[in-house]
Amino acid sequence: MNYEVRIGLEIHLQLKTSTKMFCSCKNDYNFEDEPNTNICPVCLGYPGSLPVPNRKAVEHTLKLAKALSCRINYKPVFYRKNYFYPDLPKGYQITQYGEGSIAHEGKLFLRLDKQGKYVRIARLSLEEDTARSIQTSDGNVLLDFNRSGIPLVEIVTYPDMESPEEAKAFLENLRLLIMYLDISDADMEKGHFRVDVNVSVLGNERVEIKNVNSIREVVNALEYEIQRQKDEISKGKTIQRHTRMWDDISGITRPMRRKEAEKDYRYFPEPDIPMLNVMDYKVHVEDDPYTAFSLLLERNVDPNYAETIVRNIELWKRMKFFLDKDVELKEVAKLLVNVISSMDSYPEAEQIFKLIVSGLPRNVLKEAVKQLEYKDADSIVEELLGSLADENDVEEAVKRVIENNRKQYEEYIQGKKNLFGFFMGQVRKELRNSGKEADPKLVKEVLSRMLEGH
Ligand code: ZN
Ligand code: MN
Repeated sequence: MNYEVRIGLEIHLQLKTSTKMFCSCKNDYNFEDEPNTNICPVCLGYPGSLPVPNRKAVEHTLKLAKALSCRINYKPVFYRKNYFYPDLPKGYQITQYGEGSIAHEGKLFLRLDKQGKYVRIARLSLEEDTARSIQTSDGNVLLDFNRSGIPLVEIVTYPDMESPEEAKAFLENLRLLIMYLDISDADMEKGHFRVDVNVSVLGNERVEIKNVNSIREVVNALEYEIQRQKDEISKGKTIQRHTRMWDDISGITRPMRRKEAEKDYRYFPEPDIPMLNVMDYKVHVEDDPYTAFSLLLERNVDPNYAETIVRNIELWKRMKFFLDKDVELKEVAKLLVNVISSMDSYPEAEQIFKLIVSGLPRNVLKEAVKQLEYKDADSIVEELLGSLADENDVEEAVKRVIENNRKQYEEYIQGKKNLFGFFMGQVRKELRNSGKEADPKLVKEVLSRMLEGH
């Protein structure tokens, strides 16, 4: 079939574990430590050292596999992928390969309501990261082996995406899912989540694009590359399968030297690692964005609010606290989206809860939540309840308003009932001028009693 555009993605995800994939060195994937301090004979690949697979890394991968509805391979195999590169001086990477990979044939929906399209996942492989190479301004390359051996999952999709927007939706949802599973911070700037893109146009050979460092850049690189391939084809040229680099400064892709793109990896099973018995692992997926979204819809949260909350894991963590509380989730959702999402630091769910059940009227609640940035819920409630107008205050205010607006009052009594809103406004203004906040429900009640009871 000649699809106009077909896009496949390959993602390398660093896992959040305390130690590396095959040794007990610290996994410092945020580069907090001095270079080359978390290293040992195993992650440097010294002859005779023995790699031992990291249990947590296997669990994390199985969790991801489950959340992506993959078929789990209960007898995965580690292989040596042989190649030499300065960041891999031991000459091979321990990885998984083809049928030996830990999981196959999954899928990820592009929409949170699982309507419409999904992208098929071909496989998940567990492997080790290479060292980090750092280009210096004077043209040297420095190597940091702290990264060497950090657990990596390679996630390979089928070429199911047909536009840069679909690729973007896939990557956003995959990252979100990973954060919900809490298996990685998936921070693209720190290299936790690295994307290679494959794209083909009109049934031609596919081109791989490397070095794309943000979701925004994936979209830019794809837009450029799709147009470039279409232009070539319209000039009567055919596209050869090759690898290109994305140059985000000039906004173009450039071909890589053929030598770098072509490799013969001579895979063979890693003889130093015994067979992993995946049957021994119990994993449980507690939370995922799709379930979170449908849960909120079931509880009558507006779909736009639900989407905003689910896509911001910090909002969702707070929302979760309210699921088993006797409060209107719809109202909590509004507070989260309209007030809390724009605060510099989000208050704890328990503090928000205290304000909601404090009996503060709705118009005051919003202000109260904002004060959580620098005060705790108890003292906010105490202060605000103290400044709330009571029935007596409201009656006094209504009296003054009637005195000052005799003409409107007479008209109201004659039957001009739409003046009620005018009086509401005046009374609230009057209260505010005397430093009181009022519950609109109470104002309405007192006002109608006093206007009608002439
Ligand atoms: Zn080590
Ligand atoms: Mn890989």
